[in-house]
This record gives sequence, structure tokens and C-alpha cells, in this order.
Amino acid sequence: MQQPVSSPSDRPARLWRPKRVLVTRSARSWEHGRAMADRAHALGLEVVDLPSDRLMLDRWSDPRRAYAEAKQTLAIVNAPPSKRRLQPIAPSADWRVDLAEGCPAHCSYCYLAGSLKGPPVTRAYANLPEIFAALPEYLGKGLVTSRSRQRFSEGTTYEASCYTDPLAIEHLTGSLSALVAFFGTWDVEAQLRFTTKFSAVEPLLSIAHGGRTRVRASLNPPVFARHEGGTSPVADRIAALRRLAEAGYKIGLTIAPIIAASGWQEAYGTLIDRIGEALRGMPVDLTVELITHRYTAGSREVLTSWYPGSDLDMSDGNRVEKRTKFGGVKYVYDAQIMGELRRFFQTRIESVLPTARILYFT
Ligand code: SF4
Repeated sequence: MQQPVSSPSDRPARLWRPKRVLVTRSARSWEHGRAMADRAHALGLEVVDLPSDRLMLDRWSDPRRAYAEAKQTLAIVNAPPSKRRLQPIAPSADWRVDLAEGCPAHCSYCYLAGSLKGPPVTRAYANLPEIFAALPEYLGKGLVTSRSRQRFSEGTTYEASCYTDPLAIEHLTGSLSALVAFFGTWDVEAQLRFTTKFSAVEPLLSIAHGGRTRVRASLNPPVFARHEGGTSPVADRIAALRRLAEAGYKIGLTIAPIIAASGWQEAYGTLIDRIGEALRGMPVDLTVELITHRYTAGSREVLTSWYPGSDLDMSDGNRVEKRTKFGGVKYVYDAQIMGELRRFFQTRIESVLPTARILYFT
């Protein structure tokens, strides 16, 4: 069913209810780990206390069944030391901070398919104090790319949505609210950033965020949001963005992945117009990130096995190879299509959202 772009639904956001919640022994030793288990209990979910730190997952010979079972599982675990050493994450921010790994949604282009190994269980981290304690030492570092210089006025930036959609699981974890509040106490030039395809922003609205968090709505026109199973309706995401702006947050748009399929000009034009209408009259601090659809050979193989019925084009027909700085190969749109997309978005955004800052197009 095609989602409307203009009228947000009146219903509260549909929240993910995993079929099971697994809690490792080490995670239970953290107050936050126990709090997450309590939230799951309170929601009537099955909570299983594991005897060790090994995630004991049922083995399924059918890969579709294995995928479905993993996607319905939340594991409460500790972030290992390697995850607490921050990695640079240009162009979206200086540093990556992970509260979780994995996501319950079913986007048939999901970039996580190529980067996370093993069954797609969502793992939420219990040792928040250790994760938070590592963050200040990265202050003032980074800021090395021309793109990040565009954000220079925002100080050191930390991105919390690289390996998860943190709002998708916030009702079960509370971790994002804790991180927003943590940054709200900082009296230095720094910014927490995350992007989301979900609309359940209520927990964030009353936090003393201190203007130190920028929330971006990850958007596509409804005709392409059909590839985003399990996410919030597009109109609800836009309405949630306005609510965040009203609550004093800096906001942003992550238009991604931009899909150059038939009718893209009209679809994206209408989307930008609707965003303009939704934010009309708001003196917002708005940034825009534009990311075209891309995939690797590995992610395509995984995604094709997970979503065999998807009609998302990954046929190489209008693609060229792009080398990553780590020596890998991505398939991106060819130069002609990239040029058309770049010109279109620049022109439309300048016209409809004249105060918005486009941070990058890639
Ligand atoms: Fe992947 Fe984001 Fe979709 Fe989650 S919402 S499945 S992280 S693309």
C-alpha cells in the first residue's frame, strides 16, 4: 500500500515488539542492562536470561526463516572494547558512537546487510557508562575533511546511527534519551547526530538537550518507501521532525537512498514540497544530506537472499564502480544520472527550503 506523504496518521507510532529478548550474563551486571530487561518485561515480552555471554540462537537451515527469527530478536549485550574505540565516519560526522548494532526494520537496500556479519539480531548495549566515558577524549579531534569543515561551527560531531536506527528501539532501550541528555550537559563545542526512519519521538521532546543534538529524518518519497518495510510512514516522520524543531532540536534531512527510478523527479519534488509545507513558519536550523543508492557485490547478495521479491533495481545497468578508500568497490549511478540528481536536488532545495544547508551529495 502506498503511503501518503502529506497527512500524518493520528495513530501513535507502531513500536517494535520483538518475539524474544535475550540478556547475557555480563549485560545483567549493568544497571542499564537490567533496566532494558525490565522495560521488555513490562511490555509483556518474553525475556530469556542467558547463562553466559554467548548468544544462543536457534539454527535454521532455511535462510529465510533464519533471517525472520533473527529480525525478531533483541539481544541485550555489552559493547566490547573494540566498539568503544570510536572510528571516523565521514561524511556524516567526525566520530561514530554505537548504542546498538542491527535494526528491526526491513529495508531492501539496507547498508547494514553488507557491513554486519551473522544473523541480523538487534544487539543493544548495556554498558552505557563505559560507552559514554570514552566520548570526551575525542573532542577537538576529527574535523579533517572539507565536508566536516562545513559543520565546523558545530564542533566535534558524533554520529549514533551508523549501525542501527536508535529511535526504532528507543522504547525498549532508553539509550538514545540517555545519550541526548548526556550531550546536553556538555559545555563544549560538540554535537550528537542521528538519523531515523521512525517517528516515535515523544521520549526525546522533554529532554534537556541543550541544543547539542541534531536529529535528521531519513526520507524517501512514499513510492520508494515501499522498500522500507517496518518503518514509520513518511508523513509521520516529517511531522515528527517538526515536533523536534518545536522542542528546540536542530534538525536535518537525510534523503537516502535516492533512487533514480522512473518518475523520480516528480516523487522527490513532491517530497521536498511537503517538507517545506510542514516546516513553514518555523525558524529552523536545517541541514540536508543527499545520498544516492549504492551497493556492493556482497550487500547485493545478502539483500537479494533476504528480499527475493524486491523490485529495487540492482542490475548494474546504469551503474559504475567506485573504489572506497579501503579498497572495496561500490556500485553507484553513472556520471550522467549523478549530475542530473545533483542539479535537481540543489535547485529544488534552494527554492523550497532556502535556509537549509546542504552538507553533501554523494
Ligand atoms: Fe537498515 Fe535504516 Fe532500514 Fe533499519 S531503518 S533496516 S538501519 S536502512
